[in-house]
Amino acid sequence: MSSGQFVPMVSLEHPEALENLHRDFQHAGSDIVEAFTYNAHREKMRVIGEEELLEPLNRAALKIAKKVAISTPKGIEPNLMAGNISNSNIWKENDLKSQLEVEKMFTQMVGWAVEEGADILIGETFYYAEEAYKALKVMKKTGLPCVITIAPMGENIMRDGISIVDTCKELEQLGGDVVGMNCFRGPATMMPYLKEVRKALKCHVAALPINFRTTNEYPTFFNLPDNNGCTCHSPHGRTFPTALDSLQCNRYEIGKFAKEAFGLGVNYLGVCCGANPMLIREIAESVGLKVPASKYREDMSAHFMYGTNKRIPRHMKDYGDKA
Ligand SMILES: [Zn+2]
Repeated sequence: MSSGQFVPMVSLEHPEALENLHRDFQHAGSDIVEAFTYNAHREKMRVIGEEELLEPLNRAALKIAKKVAISTPKGIEPNLMAGNISNSNIWKENDLKSQLEVEKMFTQMVGWAVEEGADILIGETFYYAEEAYKALKVMKKTGLPCVITIAPMGENIMRDGISIVDTCKELEQLGGDVVGMNCFRGPATMMPYLKEVRKALKCHVAALPINFRTTNEYPTFFNLPDNNGCTCHSPHGRTFPTALDSLQCNRYEIGKFAKEAFGLGVNYLGVCCGANPMLIREIAESVGLKVPASKYREDMSAHFMYGTNKRIPRHMKDYGDKA
């Protein structure tokens, strides 16, 4: 899919690639196959002029997710298939018209998810507290278990002025089975809020950071200066950073985050933007799980210079210092 519009046309254009990606994550230990309908909502489809594909795109994504969820590797329980709704980007405070439009979008997508056999529902990446409440209310009507995660921007508060902790408390009161945070923030700038949220809530808590080294100065990837020469703080205005590659967290940093979060009692874990199967395996293993992909974790014992295998010749081991 294209960076910028971020509409998951892949479900229709390259379904085999999406199916395979889901299988990679499943192999790495993911317990949930989330239908790839992030941004596959009416407003975004209007933006790209493809509104007539809204329902086919949603149903295709849900069917692919269901197919993968029920066909796990040998010895692994079937996964849960999750329907997904997310930030609409048209929600506006004190504007009933936009709010009704968003509610209609949520209701329609949740309806399709139920029809296609979703086991749970995930509402994610909300930066308005009230929009998250609305999403949860719509999802709760189905009777399915609901995960709801918020994504506060760089102001460290929801856009409608409600604190991160208060938003999560309200989501728990509204019946969220799992409440927490996803996206925009890397491990370093999500963890401090997670600690507060975990203390304040009794329900399950979720943590799905982005895979980038955000800092107190740059708490989200929107304001993290990238290596493109043209940073988001350039004189001609901010833009979305597309050259953050060198600022990615490595597997050990993500593993450390997951272990710490799990230690606090945060037991719904994942990675948002920047995720890859290796990182999901790292999370699974850091909380003590063995997964199919554990077979392929790094093992330097047979490395041609740094290995310990007795067949590695002395002259190659010696060369390791100069390599
Ligand atoms: Zn994300």
